[in-house]
Formats: sequence, C-alpha cells, structure tokens
Amino acid sequence: MSSPSPMGPNPPHMRTIKRCAVVGGGIIGVAVARELATKLDGVQVTVYEKEDRLGAHQTGHNSGVVHAGLYYEPGGLKARLCRRGVELLQEFCAMKNLPYEACGKLVIAQTPEESKRLDSIFARATANGVPGARMLRGDQIREVEPNAVGLSALHSPETAIVDYKAVTEALADDVRAMGGAIRLGQEVTKLEQQASGVMVHTKDGREHYDLVVACAGLQSDRLAEATGEPATPRIVPFFGQYYLLGQEARHQVKGLIYPVPDPRHPFLGVHLTKRIDGEMMLGPNAFISFGRESYAWNEVNFPDVLNYALFPGFWNFARQNVPSAVREFRTVVSKKKFIREAMRFVPSLEGASILPGTRGVRAQAMNGDGSLVDDFVIARRRDTVLVRNAPSPGATSSMAIAEYIVEQALQG
Ligand SMILES: Cc1cc2nc3c(=O)[nH]c(=O)nc-3n(C[C@H](O)[C@H](O)[C@H](O)COP(=O)(O)OP(=O)(O)OC[C@H]3O[C@@H](n4cnc5c(N)ncnc54)[C@H](O)[C@@H]3O)c2cc1C
Repeated sequence: MSSPSPMGPNPPHMRTIKRCAVVGGGIIGVAVARELATKLDGVQVTVYEKEDRLGAHQTGHNSGVVHAGLYYEPGGLKARLCRRGVELLQEFCAMKNLPYEACGKLVIAQTPEESKRLDSIFARATANGVPGARMLRGDQIREVEPNAVGLSALHSPETAIVDYKAVTEALADDVRAMGGAIRLGQEVTKLEQQASGVMVHTKDGREHYDLVVACAGLQSDRLAEATGEPATPRIVPFFGQYYLLGQEARHQVKGLIYPVPDPRHPFLGVHLTKRIDGEMMLGPNAFISFGRESYAWNEVNFPDVLNYALFPGFWNFARQNVPSAVREFRTVVSKKKFIREAMRFVPSLEGASILPGTRGVRAQAMNGDGSLVDDFVIARRRDTVLVRNAPSPGATSSMAIAEYIVEQALQG
C-alpha cells in the first residue's frame, strides 16, 4: 500500500475472507463494501455509519467534479487512482442512469508566471494520460468559454460533474442487493486486532470480522488512534464555503473555470463550478473550521478545536501560511471579495448577485511539521485497512480506491 506504511505483511489467512466490515458510509466506504461483495464469493459485508444517512459529510458537501487527473504527480496514487476512478465512475453512472455531464474545465493563467506553471501542469496531464487536454492561447479561450479571459489556458474537455450523493446511494443499493447490511446510526469506537480477524466495537456491543476497512473521513485519525495506530497524520478541518451565482448571471459560464494553483498557497482559491442541477457555484474558499462536522459559523465543537489547537503541526502550518490565511479570510468575510476573485476570469460577472450556498469541510491530513499530506494514504495492519488521507479527488477516485484496497487484501 502507499507509503509511508508502517503496516506489516498480509497474513496468509486473508485469502479466506467470509465476514467484512467497513467503517464509514461515505462514497469511499460504500464503494469498498460494493467491491468486497462483488469480488468475494459468499462474503457477508456490513457497513457501519454513525449518521442516520449515507454521504452525510464530505461526500454530500463537495463540488461534484469528476477530476481528469491534471495536477497529480505521475505514478503517485492520486494520479493512478484518479484516472482509473474516472473510468469506473463513468461506467457506473451509465449503468445506473445517473447524470454525468462532461462539461469540461479551463485552468486559466493570468500572468506570464502562471502561464509557465500551466505548461508544467500540461506536461503532468499528458504524463497522466488525461484525454483531450490541450493548451489554448488567450484569444482561443473564448471559443470554449465566451465570457472568460486570460493569457493562456489548459482545456480538459472530459472533466465532468456528477452528484456524488446519488452515486453513493446507488452503490449502497448494490451492496444491499448482494446481501450486504448497512447499519446507520452505528458509531464504531474501536477496532481491535485478534489472533485472527478484528473485533469491531460500538456502544451497543462488539462483533468479529475477518477484515475491516476504515474509511472514516474527518474522523480517520481518531479511529486510527483508538485502534492503536499513531495519531499523526492528524486531520485538521478546513471548511470551504460556496456561493451560487444569481439566476441572471448563471448562463455566463458553461463549465468549470479554475485558477492556476499557486505553490505559495496550500488551497486553490475561488473557482467557478457548474453543478449537475444547472446551478453555478463559486468557491470553495478554505479556512480553518471550528468543528470537523460543523457547517455553520455558530456550530463550534470545542474538542475538535482543542484537538488542532494542541497539535504543534497546526501552528507550524499557520506560521508558514499567513499570506494564504489573509487571502482566504478576505473571501470568508466579504461576498464582494469572493465575486471579485471570480471576476479575474469572467469580468462580465461584475454586479452579478450571489447567494450563500453550502459549506463543506475537508478531511485534510497534516504532518507534525505542518506540511499537508498530498497523496492518498492507505495503511494496513494485518486484518485492518485504514484510509488515512483521501482528499480531493477522493470522490472521483472512490471506486478505484476500493478496487485497490480489495486487490491488496486478496493478495494475502
Ligand atoms: C469542499 C470539498 C470539495 C470537494 N470537491 C471534490 C470534487 O469536486 N471532486 C472530488 O473527487 N473530490 C472532492 N472532494 C473530496 C471528496 O469529497 C472526498 O475525497 C470524499 O468524499 C471522501 O469520501 P469518504 O467516504 O472517505 O469520506 P466522507 O464522505 O467524509 O465519509 C466518511 C464517513 O465516515 C463516517 N464515520 C466517521 N467516523 C465513524 C465511526 N467511528 N463510525 C462510523 N462511521 C463513521 C462519517 O459519518 C462519514 O459519513 C471535496 C471535498 C470537500 C470537503
């Protein structure tokens, strides 16, 4: 599995897996459950989800983008699983008649320096095998997005949008149809390795399984710690606020318009994203959240705040990222600033109305030195697999992450 992996070799008994548990009913957990039920004859799969519904956290609060794999380090897990994830997701949506729209994406450079960085991203996209990716000169941008401006752009025509919550529900339908159980309102408190297999503890009791896969998103470090694994990398929650473009301005953008990532800033900055229901979203920005599962200003979770406030890594991160925090804070407190950021790419949005949309909270793993963990991290100890970092493009890659985890578990 991915490095760094403190996990030992897979024991031979992993090959006869009869009972499996998955912790977490987000898109990755449910995709893993479906993959287990599909690949293992006669297996009994149980999903434990602490909320009363599936996709309650990141899966139900994201941008809905099917990323094509433009930015990721070639050969890394993100790059490999994103491309494979797109293939599997597209196939799945077609099979289940779920809406999937390849609306395309432009990454627009506004300065010669950004143009140079965009050339490197194009080289990565090419190395990652992103279909149809091409560079556009400034005057060609309008052929794709008539109201957009810039010095140059990277066009990815197959970047798409979906409804990840609907995908999760459809994956869960398959799990149930194959005899799997989805237990809502069941929080797992601990995973305990036995001589063989793993004991899953909830407040209602405990149950034994041959294999357990934990996909706990915003709680993944806590569950890992309760299982005897290191608490670091630690999940530090960063919220992302979205706005919706008013009805009168929605038609001004056709697909997705993104800035060129700036290595000085850990998060991307405001961008424009079409939603599968036709709405046009602005955002998300990124700022420290007062709770891992808080979706409004007044929802403060003190244990969550204390958790990062007492983590030296967070303060290292904060020290290294003051300019980013200032940039993001401006968009947190000012709607005007938010739309001005978007107007760098689409000046005709001047005067457009925007309405507050949803908010999402990223489960971003952070190292002790304050650096953000970039790649997916999937760790394993004997009969337990822990997904410890699955940020964007985690939803795009979900079915490929599931395929990867199950393949590894079966290899024994
Ligand atoms: C603002 C934002 C925008 C994003 N945009 C995109 C995008 O456009 N495209 C993309 O590919 N990715 C995107 N992502 C990333 C993507 O949403 C995640 O990678 C993906 O949803 C992760 O899925 P998950 O199942 O691991 O986590 P989650 O969806 O967070 O699910 C984890 C589940 O585990 C449950 N759980 C936790 N602890 C326990 C426990 N102890 N017992 C039982 N249940 C437990 C939680 O209740 C939760 O339902 C975005 C993320 C955010 C926050």
